Amino acid sequence: MSNAPQALESYLSGGWRRGEGVETELVDPVRGDVLATASARGLDLKAALAHAHRTGGPALRGLSFAERAKLIGAVADVLIANRAKYETIAVANSGNTKIDAAIDIDGGIGTLKYYARLGSSLGGATFLLDEKPVRLAKAENFQAIHLLAPRHGVAVHINAFNFPSWGLWEKAAVSLLAGVPVLAKPASSTAMLSHEMVRDVIAANVLPEGTLSLLCGGAGDLLDHVNGADVIAFTGSSETAGRILRHPNILARGVHVNIEADSVNAALLAPDASGPAFDAFIKEVSREMTVKAGQKCTAIRRVFAPADRADAVAEALLARLKKTTLGDPRDEAVRMGPLVTRAQQAAAFEGIGKIAKDAQVLTGGATAPSIDGIDPAKSAFVAPTLMRVADGAAADAVHDTEVFGPAATIIPYKTESEAFALVERGGGSLVASVYGDDRAFLARAVSELGPSHGRLLMVEASIADAHTGHGIVMPQCNHGGPGRAGNGEELGGLHGLRLYHQRLAVQGSSDLMTELQAKAFALH
Ligand code: NAP
Repeated sequence: MSNAPQALESYLSGGWRRGEGVETELVDPVRGDVLATASARGLDLKAALAHAHRTGGPALRGLSFAERAKLIGAVADVLIANRAKYETIAVANSGNTKIDAAIDIDGGIGTLKYYARLGSSLGGATFLLDEKPVRLAKAENFQAIHLLAPRHGVAVHINAFNFPSWGLWEKAAVSLLAGVPVLAKPASSTAMLSHEMVRDVIAANVLPEGTLSLLCGGAGDLLDHVNGADVIAFTGSSETAGRILRHPNILARGVHVNIEADSVNAALLAPDASGPAFDAFIKEVSREMTVKAGQKCTAIRRVFAPADRADAVAEALLARLKKTTLGDPRDEAVRMGPLVTRAQQAAAFEGIGKIAKDAQVLTGGATAPSIDGIDPAKSAFVAPTLMRVADGAAADAVHDTEVFGPAATIIPYKTESEAFALVERGGGSLVASVYGDDRAFLARAVSELGPSHGRLLMVEASIADAHTGHGIVMPQCNHGGPGRAGNGEELGGLHGLRLYHQRLAVQGSSDLMTELQAKAFALH
């Protein structure tokens, strides 16, 4: 990579365009070097949306699901062919280890491939049917059916900094399959990877014009120009989500918005858990704390243990965390890199400080760790930080502070009902995982924790080695959560397509219903 900062361009209205000046410097969080700059200043975002609307929408809607699926597969092939350079970018711009980079890069490619396969199974259909026709009146031939029609707008995807690849492609795969063109806006601080990937896809000419646009830099006046046919899929902090939801144009035009925000996800050790279930719990908590330096929206933040097991849990976690080598991820021996920016480091320290008011810090803490050969004044490291509260019910900050870094807190519980109530104090989360072999307990946990979560991972001995992980989002499963997690729903196989479709009832003759059924793919 050259030393001169690269000015990232945006692909809008069918061409690569450079914004004026510098809005954001993209920095190597280990060395402090400026790698690139981003700016969207002066770009005509109204024209970009209109272009995608005018050219990309009709091009996709003119194709069947199977034909759109082929496009998605072709995007995956381009990314696979260029994978090696993506890893180098992820290491430099995001401070990723190779494993971290793989979760982001291969997670994005895998999701594209999954939707390419799923889409091809929908064949020549161009829209979806939700239910079988129902009779509405005495006359048998007057019926109604619910169908899903692709929206005639643009899918505006606003993404978080922690997944510049997965975040881009998990959203794009679904909207392209649905027949809705994409305008993606990666978070500025780590946009290099999204930029490079989109450059390769555009250069390979595998997508019809107008179906994929990229905005590198701030959102500028983008939200002023979306309309009621568009969809906004946002991933990021709840503060920004609130700003988007309260934006006057979004309110006035009733723009459909899906929010994937933050959460204080829980892992819960069942009262009886021992053997493989206990080991799986310890392994998963330490992995969630350290993979991507804890910068996953799904990462475990609260660690619930029966009060009489809290010491054993602390001891086992400390033993594993001690083995986590911090440093420059270019070094093969390093297991955990820095946070992506010094601003994120400062935010993580602030969060740790808040939780630590009611908690004992067992390891790590709110100061930069000292690492051989690393300048603490230029880098963004946070040590794996394990805390423990004495009384989960009396503590406040731990239940509502998301430290977006390698930090988690052990919360002892006395009874099953106390455990469920404390987990619920997270106010709605993306995911919780429960570990134990008492299946009746696991079933009670599903009904008690279900309403406040978008996903539950239930780990018993039989799947202790087989499960895909607490924090890994599988495209087959729902991603999103209620309450503070944003109330969003993404992925989940075909369910994910709903976001980009208008569901409507069509009332008419039974002959028309038969004709619609022949042209559509039935979801039920
Ligand atoms: P953020 O600061 O909220 O930024 C998210 C995105 O919103 C960025 O692309 C940002 O652009 C953009 N943005 C900022 N202000 C905006 C505005 N007024 N209008 C439109 N867009 C705006 O979040 P982040 O720091 O990147 O990400 C960390 C947070 O994301 C964490 O809290 C994490 O839990 C959450 N997250 C959630 C999920 C999930 O799936 N639920 C996944 C990943 C992360 P700029 O970068 O240009 O400012």
